[in-house]
This record gives sequence, C-alpha cells and structure tokens, in this order.
Amino acid sequence: MKDTQALKDFLQSPKKIVITTHANPDADALGSSLGLHHFLIRLGHEVNTIVPNSYPDFLEWMPGNPLVINYEKSKEAADKLLSEAELLFCLDYSGFGRIKNMKEAAESVTAKVALVDHHLNPEITPDFNFWNDKSAATAELIYDLIVDFSGREVIDKNIAECLYAGIMTDTGSFKHPSTTSKVHRMVADLIDLGADVNKVSRLIYDTNSLDRLRFLGHALAEKLKVDEASRVAYFVIGEEDFQDFRLKQGDTEGLVNYALSIKGIVVAAIIIERENEIKLSFRSIGDFAVNKFAEEYFSGGGHKNASGGMSELSLGETEKKFKELIGKDILKTRIK
Ligand code: 5GP
Ligand code: MN
Repeated sequence: MKDTQALKDFLQSPKKIVITTHANPDADALGSSLGLHHFLIRLGHEVNTIVPNSYPDFLEWMPGNPLVINYEKSKEAADKLLSEAELLFCLDYSGFGRIKNMKEAAESVTAKVALVDHHLNPEITPDFNFWNDKSAATAELIYDLIVDFSGREVIDKNIAECLYAGIMTDTGSFKHPSTTSKVHRMVADLIDLGADVNKVSRLIYDTNSLDRLRFLGHALAEKLKVDEASRVAYFVIGEEDFQDFRLKQGDTEGLVNYALSIKGIVVAAIIIERENEIKLSFRSIGDFAVNKFAEEYFSGGGHKNASGGMSELSLGETEKKFKELIGKDILKTRIK
C-alpha cells in the first residue's frame, strides 16, 4: 500500500506530527523514525519522535538522538504531544500492543494515522497506509516514501545514515532472504547520498564492552542447549547473568543468531528473564513460521523467520513450555 498522494495533499500546510515506534526500539525502529523526522522537519512541519522506553547505547550516535522523547521518562509531555497531534506515524509496528505503556494514549488520538511497517497481519487501520510485508525494513519504506514525496536529492547524510542503519540490521547485514537487488540498489543510493557504511557498522556492531564479550563466551559455553532430534537450539538467560556480567540493555541482541548458525539447526530461540519479565526471541531457516508459533503460544508475532513474544510463567516453566511445544510443532511441519 502506498497512499503517497493523499499524504502529500494532507501535508500541504504545516502540521503537528508525532512519530512513534515499538517498545525496546531497535536500529530499524529508531533509524526509520529519525530518518523520517529529519525529512518532515525539512518540509516545515512540527515534528516529535516518541519511543515507549529506552534503547541500547549503540543506537545513541544517530543524528537527532537528543530529540527523542522517552515515554517512560516524560509521560506528561508526551501525552500532551499525542493529544495535540494532527498526524500520528506508526513506524515498524502495526498493532498498538507493541507500544506497551503508550497504547492508551496512541489509541485515543484525534490525529490522522499513517502506518509504515513491514510486519505481518497489521491490526491498525490507518488513514495513510505504507504497509508492505515484502519490505526488508521499515527504513526501506521510509526511503521509498521520501523519494516518492520529494525526490532522492532531499536525502542528506543524516537521513541516509539513519536509514542505512535500519536496513543493515533488519537484513542481518544483507544476509536474510529479504535482501533483494532493490535493497542493494537503495543502499548504493544511500552511499551516494553520503552514508558512511563503515562508520555506521562500527558504531552498531563494534562497540562491545569487555563484559559483553565475556558474557558471550559464557553463554556459548554454558547456556546454549541443543536438541538435535528437533533441530532446535536455544539459550536461557536469567536475571543473575545480567548481574554477573553487568549486562546492559541490548547486550543480548544477536545472541540467538549463534544458535541458528549451528549446522543442521532450523529453529533457534533465546529466553530472557529481565526485571520479572520473560521475553522470547525466535529465529528459523526455511518453512517453519516462528511468527505463528510466537502468536499462538507466547502472545507475540513478527516475521516468518524472526519473531518474538513473552511469557508470564517462571523462567523454568517457560523453557519447559517452549521445549514441548516447539518439538510438537516442528513435527507437524514435517508431516505436512
Ligand atoms: P527480536 O527477537 O529481535 O526482538 O524481534 C524479532 C522480530 O519479532 C521483530 O520483527 C519484532 O518486531 C518481532 N517481535 C519481537 N517481540 C515481539 C512481541 O512481543 N510481539 C510481536 N507481535 N512481535 C514481536
Ligand atoms: Mn523492522
């Protein structure tokens, strides 16, 4: 869907715009939000970007980072901006459940709603729709939106680097099946427009703390469980690991991919206990749809080969539930 002309008509005069993205923002969530933010400012609108909660340090380099409003920290001001907004952008999510504590305020806005997202089964019915589940990243949809709207020349170095970060991470550094030739052409264009790919990649991937690297060694040696019969590998990370290794938000990101990199493994997971909340991430290769699995058993969703969810059980009970269900579901997939 692309309601470019309708949005263009609506944005003829300056508007109060709020950009929102999902909880625990990743590089695509933040990069697409800030890329769009910079673009809309250039068009002369009043723009605010609100995120439901904090994000990892390795995303703080993004141009515009100091402008981002954290809903958890500035609820009152954010609620006011949301209630006064004339246009609300929903980026990289398509159900208000994904913005956690902001849900109520976002659902009750009088603003028109624009949806820019690539997740399956959208729940939001927007006034302006830019949803496309074939897109590799929301940043790709923002690139298309900007180019259709004003032409590629309007993309400066700041916008190019924000969008590049989103595309690089959501494609797993251009390795996932979503990495089309169009993605490469778009990235080539972002480089021509000023994106320093080596800088962005170093800022995102090569800023490990020693604690994080030691934790990685510990997780690989002690926490990785492999069920060869089901071709499943997973990590279970408890609160004590966070304390022992002084882990920070984002330090477990990417860990699940090590489980999926084992020869023969088709489904990988990580189960994380953090501040009395159990969060699960799933990855798969090929046919097994982890978004359906997450949706059915762990109140989650996402993409066919990358999804997430949560659990209200204890860590041990969650692991047991996961092991039993994944074994059965994988069996079903093979019988089909
Ligand atoms: P990650 O494992 O990196 O947190 O998320 C992988 C994918 O699953 C992302 O596309 C993300 O949007 C989606 N996802 C992660 N957690 C949840 C969740 O709790 N609910 C839903 N609906 N999607 C999730
Ligand atoms: Mn995304």
